[in-house]
Amino acid sequence: MKLILLGAPGAGKGTVAKLLTKIDGSVQISTGDILRGAVNAGTDLGKEAKAYMDAGDLVPDSLIMGIMEERLQEDDCKNGFLLDGFPRTIPQAEALDVLLDKIGAKLDFVVNLDVPRDVIYDRLTTRRTCENPECQAIYNVKSMPSKVEGICDKCGSKTVQRADETVEAISKRLDTYDEMTAPLADFYDKKGQLFTVVATSSDKVVEEVTKKLGIA
Ligand code: AMP
Repeated sequence: MKLILLGAPGAGKGTVAKLLTKIDGSVQISTGDILRGAVNAGTDLGKEAKAYMDAGDLVPDSLIMGIMEERLQEDDCKNGFLLDGFPRTIPQAEALDVLLDKIGAKLDFVVNLDVPRDVIYDRLTTRRTCENPECQAIYNVKSMPSKVEGICDKCGSKTVQRADETVEAISKRLDTYDEMTAPLADFYDKKGQLFTVVATSSDKVVEEVTKKLGIA
């Protein structure tokens, strides 16, 4: 499957993407994970991206398109991909159209995860992420705690609150989403590609997406 997962931070894009990868081996491509990996590894890309990310701002389109040009042409994308957190601006969406044409790939559709703002806010402030860049497992202190508080079940590293998940950074990220990314719903709707799902449960989203793909 070739899908874009669109939705505010905390809407569940990553969780839904991980569930969908298990169905047909499509790969999850999360620009946020790629950028955090680069920050942790101290690469030039990471150094350039860090200040934007910590402030809850978007990283410049040119950096993101450089990442995606390379990533989408890797071999594992041939079976399908789930774009998680990309595109995030109209120029990124337009550049993606050109890139998909160039590599001869066609999207199935764009899943728009619709979640009430209070649910998102609560999810993000209670989220904890494994600090190991190779793992990045996600927990929630209320709904999905790790077995030992503060320690990742999968790899034993520390789980931490991301720098961009403080109350101030979250408000900023949600404002950025409303201003820069929410208009993408209209962009894809006009192209007849938008599939909006009320996303309070990830399992329900997966059920609706697979039904629409005709593989349920
Ligand atoms: P995420 O984990 O998807 O919420 O991304 C974390 C942060 O990485 C965002 O707040 C942005 O600073 C940056 N980021 C991730 N994806 C993009 C993108 N497609 N365009 C610009 N910035 C991005």
